[in-house]
Amino acid sequence: MDPEVVLAIINIVLAGMFGAVIGSFTNVCIYRIPEHRTVVKGHSMCMTCGHELGALDLVPIFSWLFLGGKCRYCKTPISSRYIKIESLTALMYMVMAATHLSMFLDPTVEDPMTNIFPFIELCALFIMINVVIVEMMIQHDTGSSMYRMSVALGIDFVIQLAARILAVATDDSISGELCDKLAGWGIEILVGAAIGFVAVVLAVLFANRPKELSKYFHDAKYRGVRTSDVFAIVLCACIGIIPAAVASAVYLIGRIVIGNGKNVKYLGIILAAGAAVGYFANCAIQVI
Ligand SMILES: [Zn+2]
Repeated sequence: MDPEVVLAIINIVLAGMFGAVIGSFTNVCIYRIPEHRTVVKGHSMCMTCGHELGALDLVPIFSWLFLGGKCRYCKTPISSRYIKIESLTALMYMVMAATHLSMFLDPTVEDPMTNIFPFIELCALFIMINVVIVEMMIQHDTGSSMYRMSVALGIDFVIQLAARILAVATDDSISGELCDKLAGWGIEILVGAAIGFVAVVLAVLFANRPKELSKYFHDAKYRGVRTSDVFAIVLCACIGIIPAAVASAVYLIGRIVIGNGKNVKYLGIILAAGAAVGYFANCAIQVI
């Protein structure tokens, strides 16, 4: 096999393993933050029998598979949420590596900046997406969730802006006009937001009966759905046009299927999955 292909596969696999570990940490956050426990210290234990978990029980994705989704000690079924979040995060990091292979493969590439800044942007985006997952899973129906997710998005926008300014500042060629680049980014944000907005309007119309429509805007019961709808629009604004189109389509379908029921907390994961698939689609189009 071509050594470049081998190296590419190794990089994608490593990124996937790293993503699975981040996903595992995401699960710890979802479980411990509502109990006001620290997420950096302390052993994990079975929620049913309280048995402390060993290293073999804590391998992301694989432990769940090999134990058949049950606790090794008391055989109580473990929620599939763990493996879902771990594998989703692993997938997202693999996409990130696959879209930035030239950076890993050839460090002497003529202009490393062309790869580094998009890479920083993607890292920021995926950290933000993990924040979405955590927030939606544990606090989907509270105002503080909206606040924290907005802060995460704000940080993401600032990093994107800084990456663009730095990319232009380190670019010697005349083509890198700051105004042009920022204007292009502005248009991308507006179009992405518009795509997300259309998806949310359709979702609200399809998921609510006409006479329930006013409830959507006023009833406290709908707060979780409203939070995720607003978040879907902002997410679409910051991921680029093609990923936004795919993510909003995935969100629209998930939103109509879930409706306004108790599974609203999974909308964050649906959004994140949509964004990951959108990046796949974007790469595929660029390769063609
Ligand atoms: Zn147990």
